Amino acid sequence: MNNVLKNTPLSIFDKYAPLQSRVDLMMKIGKDALGLKFDDIISATRGKIDGREILLAGTNNYLGLTFDNDCMTAAKNAVDRHGTGTTGSRVANGSYDEHIQLEKILADHLGMESCVVFTTGYQTNLAAISGLAGDNDVIFMDADAHACVIDGTRLTSSSTIRFRHNNPEDLDKRLKRQGDISNGNALVVIEGMYSMFGDIAPVDEFVDVTHRHGGYLYIDEAHSYGVFGPTGCGIAEDQGVLDKIDFISGTFSKSLASVGGFCASRHKEFEILRKVMRPYMFTASATPSNICAALMAVEKVKEGQNLRNNLKKRSIQLHSGLSEMGYDICADASPVIAVRRANEAVAAMEWNWLIENGVYVNLAVPPGTPQSSSLLRISLSAAHTEADINILLKAFSDLKSNQQELISKMSSRLTK
Ligand code: PMP
Repeated sequence: MNNVLKNTPLSIFDKYAPLQSRVDLMMKIGKDALGLKFDDIISATRGKIDGREILLAGTNNYLGLTFDNDCMTAAKNAVDRHGTGTTGSRVANGSYDEHIQLEKILADHLGMESCVVFTTGYQTNLAAISGLAGDNDVIFMDADAHACVIDGTRLTSSSTIRFRHNNPEDLDKRLKRQGDISNGNALVVIEGMYSMFGDIAPVDEFVDVTHRHGGYLYIDEAHSYGVFGPTGCGIAEDQGVLDKIDFISGTFSKSLASVGGFCASRHKEFEILRKVMRPYMFTASATPSNICAALMAVEKVKEGQNLRNNLKKRSIQLHSGLSEMGYDICADASPVIAVRRANEAVAAMEWNWLIENGVYVNLAVPPGTPQSSSLLRISLSAAHTEADINILLKAFSDLKSNQQELISKMSSRLTK
């Protein structure tokens, strides 16, 4: 290549060679877990892969509302009324009435003074965290924070300190060590239920520690809004501290059966951030159908105690069944049940085997997992029946009894 900058024989893709080897290995074992294709999605709990029906147990569709008649009708009507897209950002091109309605309904539901709706959950954390923390502020972030929390800290010049996962004492120590943050504030960022292990934060203790040091507490309830709390507001509500949370974020892509996100605050001054948050200002706003589906889903969340009860029953059923079989589960019963496997290759083999045997769960491997663990991650839905959980349990039981056959089948694929 005739390029004056080019003093190396490497191609721009060579840095990805180790990753390519991992992908090649996975493809030898079976399917590409990061690029799985469904032939069809039939309901909240059933899809099709390779022409065969499969039980879906890895969709984060916690309340099963993606096929709720009212949510589907709301989305269809929105297309009829407002068309398919918004074609621009709310700052440059204006908001639709429904964007504002949704912000108001969410703020009321959460008992907050302000709520901003974003185009995705990912952008919500990028925008709010980078908008809130400026040059002189310090972000204290849980060690198992989601990628979009981490990326939010990278969009700002404030420094970031990690504290031990779900450990308020460690946060306390680090806040003390930091002393007075000159001309700035501490922003502590945690999650409600963590997405990979399904473990739950002691939010009440984090409130105490954070406020004792004069900091602000930000909680991402992406996996817990709709699922926990008497009215579905999440873990903070469940632990009785919702009114003490400074910022609460969430997504529409899980319990709310749509795409988009929100950040709400008990501080009405949060509104000013609409004028500075780049991932809010410089991207197109959520589509009418996404917003209207979410608007309807919030109503379902508020009155969703039966859905939450069913989800809890199914979580306990699966957790106790898998525990009895001797599986190593990463946390107590919750709608996310992560089964720890020996390593990435074993987990990949078993994940393929489960698909071939009619069950879809998530394959989760480093670097996206805590403690570099390789996981078969299950996420349950209120739409799962007792019989569905029995299908899952049977699949995991067969997986155990067919280990020898599985290993020889997969080793022969690897040596081909
Ligand atoms: N926060 C957490 C904890 C998540 O797990 C995710 C995505 N799974 C998000 C935020 C981003 O949400 P979305 O996929 O709706 O952009």
